[in-house]
Formats: sequence, structure tokens, C-alpha cells
Amino acid sequence: MSVRTRFAPSPTGFLHLGNIRSALFPWAYARHRRGTFILRIEDTDAERSTPEATQAIVDAMHWLGLDYDEGPYYQMQRMDRYRAVLDDLLARGLAYRCYTTPEELDELRAEQMARGEKPRYDGRWRPENAQGKTPPEGVTPVYRFRNPDDGVVAWDDAVKGRIEIANRELDDLVIARADGTPTYNFCVVVDDVDMRITHVIRGDDHVNNTPRQINIMRALAATPPVYAHLPTVLTPTGERLSKRHGARGVLQYRDEGYVPEAVVNYLARLGWAHGDAEVFDVDEFVAWFDLAGLTPSPARFDPEKLKWLNHEHLKRLDDGELGRRLQPFLARAGLDVAGGPGVERVAALLRDRAATLAEMADAARYFYEAPAPDPAMLAEQINDANRPVLGELHNEFATIDWARATLGSTIKAAAARHKLKPPQLMMPLRALVAGTLKTPAIDAVLELVGREATRARMARGLDFE
Ligand code: GLU
Repeated sequence: MSVRTRFAPSPTGFLHLGNIRSALFPWAYARHRRGTFILRIEDTDAERSTPEATQAIVDAMHWLGLDYDEGPYYQMQRMDRYRAVLDDLLARGLAYRCYTTPEELDELRAEQMARGEKPRYDGRWRPENAQGKTPPEGVTPVYRFRNPDDGVVAWDDAVKGRIEIANRELDDLVIARADGTPTYNFCVVVDDVDMRITHVIRGDDHVNNTPRQINIMRALAATPPVYAHLPTVLTPTGERLSKRHGARGVLQYRDEGYVPEAVVNYLARLGWAHGDAEVFDVDEFVAWFDLAGLTPSPARFDPEKLKWLNHEHLKRLDDGELGRRLQPFLARAGLDVAGGPGVERVAALLRDRAATLAEMADAARYFYEAPAPDPAMLAEQINDANRPVLGELHNEFATIDWARATLGSTIKAAAARHKLKPPQLMMPLRALVAGTLKTPAIDAVLELVGREATRARMARGLDFE
């Protein structure tokens, strides 16, 4: 049987890395098994669902390369279908109208609590109990599912192992509200059945819903899918990952210069492992992904590790690709690259020195703009011993072949002539030309900055313009 998985987000707000991980695993499983991956937008909470949140989900999936084969389906467009299934369950006595008022429910609850019992609906409007009762006037009923009384609901969770719940623990779930709108658990079941989902891979905040969903599924004469409940993602300090606890939106990582390869790699390791593989690309991930590699223990989000992985993935990109990805970050940093060195060469030089593309763009500034070196730094680097030599270099730079090797040998020769160590010229050159002492090899930097700009910056800093 061909595998069919889905990502079924509710577009009700903020999408953080923990949320999108629930898309990554079903996507990877579908790809690994050459199956079908479906996007289903669970937008029945009309008050909290927004088109912007849906767009953010679609954009984040697109950025990460999580392409879907079917959908997006929208639950709001399937209301007629839920209604038809509800009517069918009503006709078969597997769902019923419940006229219990909120006040009566409160009363029931208080009584049960007083007796030390767990509060639950007592089934007073179940078909067998409602016979002969007249529905009270003025009460619009809700619709409940008639849960089986006896036996257990059990499933072999692909992550958590065998789970069994006694039916007497489950009360009759409201599957449609008084205004007829179906509830979450009901829509999910109808959709998972209609969409022929074979593997439900989702966050373990849904594990309590699963026995209810299995019962409804059985009432629809459908075979339940395989369930895999992913461990919760916790913050470094052990809270549930959430906006309140500092989680950032998925697309914020894109805007900060994380590459999708790194984010996918990082998310893959949040609750899944393949031996001791740490750095891998998406093709390796898909080839390796199986449900057996999912781990039940909570996963901890570690921003430092994500950054480290980003650096690793930046290092893996070839110069051309790295340059292409850096380009928009340079533009955003306000740099006009047209007159400066090729972005590809700048990227190649900075690749080992920045963990994100935004940091790289920041580090690239002096290639495109004259820096304003800190006078204190210049004073520290330039002294009576090296000032005249820097002047000589300024002259030599007017005529030498402008290539890294010649630049390097010219600087070294000048140092040797004046019995200086090469760094005694290289450091002031960095300060003058880059405005910082932290640069890649200075000969490589000068080559890219170019003859004119190098000499102009030296002249200005050495005060002999
Ligand atoms: N819509 C649910 C959520 O966003 C997920 C439903 C499911 O995966 O079954 O939490």
C-alpha cells in the first residue's frame, strides 16, 4: 500500500521551529517511501485562523523545500462533507443530539466532584436513555459521539510503543457544536479517512485525542492509520517551546541568514537520529529516515547548535551558490555591490568566518564601502617604525601587479627591508583598509578591495592626502 502522510496545521498564529518539525517528519517519511505528502489547513477555528498564518505556513514549507503533492485542503471548504458524515452517524445511532445545558453540566460536574469521581458526561441523552424524553424547549443541542462502553482502545505508537485506554475513561465527545460546526477531533478523523492517510505523524500534544479519534474512525468503518507521536520540543531551560519562551518564527531564521539545509538538518535531529550522524544534507536525511529512528524522549532546542550547523552548511556550499545566497543580504545591509568586487569571491573569502549570511554580509561591508577606522585603533597600530614603510607600500601599490601573490610578497619584502615582522605591516593595513583587525589574509583582502580603494584608504588613514 502506498504511504500517504499529512501535515495538518491550524493557521492560528505563530509558526515556530517545533511546529514546522511536524511537517518535516511526515514529509520525509512520504519521500522515503515514495508516497504522497498532503497539506491540510485546519482552519475551523474561524476566530483565530488568519490568511496571514496560512501564508506563513506555506512560505516556511516552501523555504525548507517541504513540497506537498496534494492540497492545501481547507477544512472550512469541507463543511458539507462533515455534515453528511454527522448525519450518517446520527442515522446509525453512533452520534446523538445532547440537550444538556451548560448549567446542568456544571451541576453534574459538582456532584461528581463531591463524590470524588472524575467529571464526565453521564450519557443522559444517549439514544438508549433519551427514549421517551422530550427535548427541552429553547435548547439547541450539541452533537455527541456515542463512545463504546466497554473494552479498550489500543494502538502501537511508532514512537511511544503500545498505548491502551479503557473506553470507560472516555466520555461522549462533542463532535459538532450547537450551531452545527464540527469540532477538531471529528474533522481530523473524517479528513484522515477521506484522504486515506496511512501514517499520522504529529506532535505528542495530540496523544490524548488519538483513542477518541480511533473510536470515531471505527464508527466510520475505517482502519486507523499508524500513529507516530513526536516528542515535545523544549527550550534550553526545559519549557515547552513557545513564543512566550522566546521561540522565533520559522521565517525569522531565513531573514537572519540561516540556510534551509541547516534548519532541516537541525530539525531532523530534534527527536530522530541515524547512528551518530550530525551534519547531513536533505537527500541523506530522506534516504535514512524511518520511523524506527524516532525517539520518545523530549527534544531540546539548542540555538547554538543550530548556528553551528548553519556554519557547517555554509561551508559546504560552492562559491557561486554561496555568493547567490549572500547577495540579498548585502543589499539589505545597504551595500551597493555593483562597483565592488564580485560577491562570489567575497563570499569565498568569508565563508569560514561567519555563521549566518547576515553576519557574512556585515563582515563584507569594507569590500564595498570605505570604513571609518577608529582613531584609537589606528594610533595603536601605526607608529614611527611602520608609518614610513606603509608610505613606501602606498607608492609600490601604485604599480605592482594587483594580485594576491604579488601583494603578499611586496608586503613581506618591505617588512624584511626594514627589519619588521610581517604582522607589523599587516595589522595596520587591516586597520586602514578594512577598519578592523579581524579579516581574512590581508593580501587576499587587498586584492578584492582593489588598487584604487586600497590606496585611497591608506592615504586617508596615514594623513598624507
Ligand atoms: N491541527 C492540529 C494542530 O495544529 C494538528 C492535527 C493533527 O495533526 O492531527 O495542532
